[in-house]
Amino acid sequence: MVAGPLGTLSSMALFIGLTGGIGSGKSAASAEFEKLGITVVDADVVAREVVAPGQPALHRIAEHFGPEFILADGTLDRARLRARIFSDSDAKSWLEQLLHPIIRDAIIEQLHIAASPYAILVSPLLFETNQHELVARSILVDVPETIQIERASQRDENSTEQIRKIMATQMSRDNKRQRADYILDNSADLTGLHEQVRALHKKLLSAAQNTIDT
Ligand code: ATP
Repeated sequence: MVAGPLGTLSSMALFIGLTGGIGSGKSAASAEFEKLGITVVDADVVAREVVAPGQPALHRIAEHFGPEFILADGTLDRARLRARIFSDSDAKSWLEQLLHPIIRDAIIEQLHIAASPYAILVSPLLFETNQHELVARSILVDVPETIQIERASQRDENSTEQIRKIMATQMSRDNKRQRADYILDNSADLTGLHEQVRALHKKLLSAAQNTIDT
């Protein structure tokens, strides 16, 4: 395959980023795109896949941090690793330098094998990381912070304080609203979200058509 302009490959596919804060409705929106036949690549899922048993990155982590970071069933001890990088900034940057390029390559690979007219990359940190460089346009699933906290706490039984802490590590709502090309307002019910997804899908299909034509 031949690399095309940013966010596209060999004039075949248009790549679209989908982001939003914790509990904003990214999964709800991407499930609707999937129903419409669109391939969705989830950056969080890819991040777990690249450290699955048998993957070279898991081996490197065990070599660097020690075999005690691998659980009896061969999977990564995420809690232990989280605790380690929380208290050790060198360890954190070593891990990021190892994983970020591997995750990025795996995302690119998965987007490129998408068979749909356009493909979506879902990432909670699309703008905060360099992942926005992989897509031609971006969608923000947007809700006021009060709704974000309410929905995220109902779903995860996380305390409001824990959710606020996670929100503090994410880019501000205003900043994301300025950077996004499309905004899905998820402050009402799921029917409203699904309608907006279907309308946007039509626009993206014609954008994908134009990508092929040009
Ligand atoms: P995270 O980044 O934390 O994984 P997310 O952005 O993927 O979250 P979802 O999991 O889609 O968000 O939504 C958060 C919760 O809110 C879920 O329990 C979901 O069912 C619910 N939810 C999403 N949209 C709506 C809506 N419009 N009305 C009511 N509940 C909703």
